[in-house]
Amino acid sequence: MASFDVLVIGGGPGGYVAAIRAAQLGLRVACVEKRDALGGTCLNVGCIPSKALLHASELYAEAASGTLSKFGIGIKGLELDLAAMLKEKAKAVTELTQGIAFLFRKNKVTWLKGAAAFEGPGEVRVGDEIVTADHIVIATGSEPAFPPGLAPDGEVIVTSTEALDFPEVPGHLIVVGGGYIGLEMGSVWKRLGADVTVIEYMPTIVPAMDADIITEFTKILAKQGLVLKTGMKVTAIARDGARAEVTVEPAEGGAAETMMADRVLLAVGRRPNTDGLALEKAGVAVNARGQIEVDHQFRTNVPHIRAIGDVIPGPMLAHKAMDEGHAVAEWIAGRVGHVNPDVIPAVVYTMPEAASVGLTEAEAKAKGHHVRVGQFPFLANSRAKTNRDTAGFVKIIADAQTDRVLGVHILGSMAGTMIAQAAQAMEFGASSEDIALTCHAHPTHSEAMKEAAIAVRGTALHI
Ligand code: FAD
Ligand code: NAD
Repeated sequence: MASFDVLVIGGGPGGYVAAIRAAQLGLRVACVEKRDALGGTCLNVGCIPSKALLHASELYAEAASGTLSKFGIGIKGLELDLAAMLKEKAKAVTELTQGIAFLFRKNKVTWLKGAAAFEGPGEVRVGDEIVTADHIVIATGSEPAFPPGLAPDGEVIVTSTEALDFPEVPGHLIVVGGGYIGLEMGSVWKRLGADVTVIEYMPTIVPAMDADIITEFTKILAKQGLVLKTGMKVTAIARDGARAEVTVEPAEGGAAETMMADRVLLAVGRRPNTDGLALEKAGVAVNARGQIEVDHQFRTNVPHIRAIGDVIPGPMLAHKAMDEGHAVAEWIAGRVGHVNPDVIPAVVYTMPEAASVGLTEAEAKAKGHHVRVGQFPFLANSRAKTNRDTAGFVKIIADAQTDRVLGVHILGSMAGTMIAQAAQAMEFGASSEDIALTCHAHPTHSEAMKEAAIAVRGTALHI
């Protein structure tokens, strides 16, 4: 019977970081992963392959749409080699997942290949082997969730996993859900030539975002040709040979309409994954949403069993899982782990990107803050103008009394990278004046952040 100081279940961003950090802190660590490769959803079928396709499809769209030709780069005989694009994506995934395996070897983390199931509070079965550990970290992530009564068939009606690997560009792709996956994967296939219709139940796409971002983002995506049907629900999807008939009706009820699709992508969120873990044998409880509740040290109701990542409450984001992985290892080693749930950035990697951190304006007001808002458009940013890349803006929300930054929201080609500055400022408790008085390099898109901070007091310079 193998025995470890720490056993991590799940080798995704939460689990692999927890395992590496615990090993760095001198503990004997094993990580159980049932996939053939480490890296979890994120590296295998999530963040990385989707970003590979977003990048490649954006290059294709720039060439195909004439964006490059206005810079004097003429292209004749443009061709899409989808197989090559998918191969390059797969290569990136393999390189990165093998990188995690290398880091495991380097840090002497034992990878136990197989599915883990509890036999008792300190005992886990992996295949035929029983493993014991003083501390166990559950990092089993999440799986796609489906609208009531609708399920994928893996061919025509699919999840994001299959949508990362369509062997041909669908004629018409219907996406159910106008959130992260719907807009990112919808953008990929639209750029590559598909007609894309997004059906969103709520009155807007990405409903959790700041209202000003949603308004502008919606206009831009519609201009790119995505058909966005909001306030609509899908009530039935019927296979019709190689196609599917999708029935939609207003979310509030009303006349139904049908549409034919070559592929239907179900992207209505994900559910925590505790399948097959036999949590009951360890006495670990889950809440009504199937999530494992934890305290600030990530302890479940069974104190030596902790949980992190998508399987616990909070946003289902890889960087949140990674930070929790780092923090949980610190706590296990008797140190202090830090994750600030109020400062977790979120990015939709469309073009332009939509990024946010902290409170939206509506949330800040609902919490009783009197707010001051500064906004600055990329249209007035010299680098964005030079690059002919002027869509979007930066919006900073500050408390009117203290000037402390409460939230930052960015729509722009560099939003995902720029949001790190906002997160750091908020983590340091910055005021908008702190950002305004920080020297930003010229010419960069980041100057729009400085200008938005100046605009909190109504005096932006370049507009
Ligand atoms: P996971 O990554 O889901 O890893 C859990 C691992 O545990 C899996 O590998 C699974 O095989 C393993 N496992 C489960 N049960 C067992 C068991 N019983 N025994 C052994 N192993 C087990 N987030 C971002 O921040 N940025 C993005 O750009 C982004 N893009 C995404 C795109 C897509 C298409 C999808 C689907 C998700 C995306 N996400 C993104 C979300 C991100 O992938 C998750 O938030 C992140 O992977 C969660 O990490 P985790 O470690 O909690 O779980
Ligand atoms: P999501 O929560 O982002 O979006 C789901 C959308 O579907 C919501 O807007 C919701 O209102 C809508 N919806 C729910 N039920 C519906 C129904 N019956 N009909 C129509 N619309 C419905 O979920 P997702 O896009 O599936 O992504 C899952 C999770 O994966 C995300 O929440 C996110 O945490 C993570 N993710 C992150 C990134 C990123 O960071 N860039 C990218 C992809 C996925």
